[in-house]
Amino acid sequence: MSILDLSAIEIAEKVSSKSLSATEVLKAYKDHSQKLNTELNVIVSFCDGAEARAQELDRRMASGENPGRLAGVPVLVKDMFCQKSELTTAGSKILSGYRPPYSCTVVERLEAEGAIIFGKTNQDEFAMGSSNESSAYGPCKNPWNTDYVPGGSSGGAAAAVAARMAPISFGTDTGGSIRQPASFCGVTGAKPTYGRVSRHGIIAFASSLDQAGPIANNVSDTVLATEIVSGHCKYDSTSSFKDVPNWSKEISSSVKGLKIGLPKEYFGDGLEADCRKKIEELSEQLKSEGAELVEVSLPRTKYAVPIYYIIATCEASSNLSRYDGVRFGYRANFMEEPAGSLEEFYSRTRGEAFGDEVKRRIMLGTFALSSGYYDAYYSKACKVRRLIKNDFDAAFEKCDVILSPVTTGTAFKIGERITDPLTMYMNDVYTISANLAGIPGMSVPCGVSDSGLPIGAQLMSRAFDEQNLFCIAQKTEEIAQFTEVPSVL
Ligand code: GLN
Repeated sequence: MSILDLSAIEIAEKVSSKSLSATEVLKAYKDHSQKLNTELNVIVSFCDGAEARAQELDRRMASGENPGRLAGVPVLVKDMFCQKSELTTAGSKILSGYRPPYSCTVVERLEAEGAIIFGKTNQDEFAMGSSNESSAYGPCKNPWNTDYVPGGSSGGAAAAVAARMAPISFGTDTGGSIRQPASFCGVTGAKPTYGRVSRHGIIAFASSLDQAGPIANNVSDTVLATEIVSGHCKYDSTSSFKDVPNWSKEISSSVKGLKIGLPKEYFGDGLEADCRKKIEELSEQLKSEGAELVEVSLPRTKYAVPIYYIIATCEASSNLSRYDGVRFGYRANFMEEPAGSLEEFYSRTRGEAFGDEVKRRIMLGTFALSSGYYDAYYSKACKVRRLIKNDFDAAFEKCDVILSPVTTGTAFKIGERITDPLTMYMNDVYTISANLAGIPGMSVPCGVSDSGLPIGAQLMSRAFDEQNLFCIAQKTEEIAQFTEVPSVL
């Protein structure tokens, strides 16, 4: 069996027992990644220090140190995760050349368990998008069919795992950016409860919605990775003090007695037949395993996309104001034509270095926050957000876990939706509500469409109830027997 076919847990076992070294595992993944990257455009920068970190781990192990639960596991992280001295650019020209002076908490926790982070994955600029097409590095391709998008915004992170370029990657999910690309690429992705994972050092898009989480080729690796990065962090005031259960030991795949809610609004007219069929088949199989199916209603689903695009753009316009050409990354060339004013200095830099989608959102957010419009848009959106959360509270009175499609269809073609922002935004209709409500969600592959593209099942649970989410994910994986591999392999 090739090293590339091992799960993260298997790699960690083999490195811990010294039947593989961290250095040789890294080399296998890096060689394979470099080979595929020309075609797929998954990795935007390889870390300079990865080899040295792998050698250091091998040395520490030789002197008897415990290497950790991810001993020698090569990990890729989305370009949003600050890593000390390694390029971190959020898929944007405005951060070109930026090397952070510190690592984010997620990176620190992964490294403390022996993971070797060796590259940054492609993404939509500042995580704004659903197709990875708004990246300053150009689009990333779907390993199942390179004419198609991998989804977004964590498109590279999902494509990387699907193409076996890493057994685990990390993405961020503000409105579906882990779950949707995981679904488009046939891999497993988890967005934990808001507050479970520290946002410290992760480049901010919309701070009340952003949450980091893992993508992997199986549920067990996803669960272990979530467990490792979860838990309070003193640098993020929104991170929770709640204990992190020992999920990787405690979860079983028994679904006996679990109530699974099927939200009727998620099975309406827009849903493609292939996706509907797979989710319905899955729900019947879960029922025959002892789960109880109940219909639930999330009546404000229709408001989720418009509400999200007010709240997310407002927060983004504020978060992105720090990119002024003074402190980090790109600055327009003022040598030949000096700026006449400070305002011109900012606007030339920002005008040259932000892409169209980011500019559109900064303008929308600035407008919605401006005096006179604040109450009509932002305040109102926050109130409706609360009602959406109330819908979930009512649904979870009747069920433990919600099962639904992740998206209305499978991956779409590169270029197909990029000129039509509204159609692109509507793609997230099933994923956005979990972020607005702060609850955890997952995408688990459950089949392939007639056109040969993967289909994912979305699972959502009550806030901080990842336990039930993971149990049902495990059973879904068992039932789905998803063994197909992408065409690039
Ligand atoms: N596709 C959504 C957007 O464009 C969600 C992105 C995300 O989750 N980062 O904002």
